Formats: sequence, C-alpha cells, structure tokens
Amino acid sequence: MRPVVGALLLALVLGLPSPSGLSPAAAAPEQPVGVWPLDPEPEVVQGFSPPPHPYAPGHRGVDLAGRPGQPVLAALAGTVGFAGSIAGKPVVTVRHGGRRTTYEPVVASVSRGDEVATGDVLGRLVVTDSHCFPVACLHWGLIEGTGAEEEYADPLTLVGGGPVRLLPLWREEPVSVRVPWTPPMGRWRRPLDFLA
Ligand SMILES: [Zn+2]
Repeated sequence: MRPVVGALLLALVLGLPSPSGLSPAAAAPEQPVGVWPLDPEPEVVQGFSPPPHPYAPGHRGVDLAGRPGQPVLAALAGTVGFAGSIAGKPVVTVRHGGRRTTYEPVVASVSRGDEVATGDVLGRLVVTDSHCFPVACLHWGLIEGTGAEEEYADPLTLVGGGPVRLLPLWREEPVSVRVPWTPPMGRWRRPLDFLA
C-alpha cells in the first residue's frame, strides 16, 4: 500500500500530466484564492447543497458560525455590487469579474461601487434573518458566471475547502443550540483536506 500511496502523493505534488500538455485552463476555470469572510477561521455549520434546478429547495451557499456584530470580510478583491436590503434582509454582494460573492445577513459599511481589497470589512454580522437563528451565522454564497450563465458554486472552493460535502448540523428542525456550536470530534473537516 505504501508505495501506491507514495506515488499518488508524488503525483499530487508534481501535478499529473494532461494529454493536452500544460493547459490548466482547459481542465477547469481559473480558481482564485480568497480568504474566509470571518476571522478567525469559522466552523462550517451547514454546507453547500445546490438545488437540482433553479426553483427547487437547496442551500445555495454555506453557513459559517459567527457572533453578532462580527466584522464580515471580502473573500476576494472586487467591487461592491449591492449593499442594502432584499426583502428586509441585509445583504452585501461583491463582484469579481465573472463571479460574485454574497454575504448575509450583513449590515453594510460599504456602498455600491466601492472597491474592496481581499479581507476588507464589508459590514457587521447580525442575527436577524440568520439561517442559524437564533444563533448568528454568515450565509456565504458564490455565483459563477453572469446573466443566464450564472450558477451557484461552493464558496469553500475559494479557501481550499471544497468541494467537500458536510453533513448538515440540522435539517428543517428549529435550532436549539444557544451558543456557537463546537464540533464533537474536533475539526471534522480536516481529514478530507489532503484529498482536495
Ligand atoms: Zn445558509
């Protein structure tokens, strides 16, 4: 087993040659490297679960454990596309060329058109409309493409954590936890990291 594992790791480190030569763009669209929108690195309390079609239920982002009033940071540099309220829910979106990231519920300290650098503060996390209500958490979304081509993607891919499917902490039941949730088995996301 060990020689096989060693060869696999070596292949991962060196990169596997592709038939078309060194052409990473042909294999996958360019994936930028961003930062977690909460600092310190938050726990993922609910993972990405895209719907089978645009109008089906699903979870179009990830929920990150936070605390009320916590600064929310731009995961990538870009231009604020929206900062305000959608159906009463405070939302910030940032455009990064052909993709955009979304942050909610966040009361913005930026305005539409503002240029932001990676890690810049966009606003403050609030509990109202939290997906983890009554606990504060940030719903963080990533939308790839524009117009009719756009689709939801797993934002954890921006921080080297995806595409990892996590078991949801809860499903449709009301949340009963009162303090930020701590995982029972340490950082349960870690074992999959080396496969990414
Ligand atoms: Zn959510």
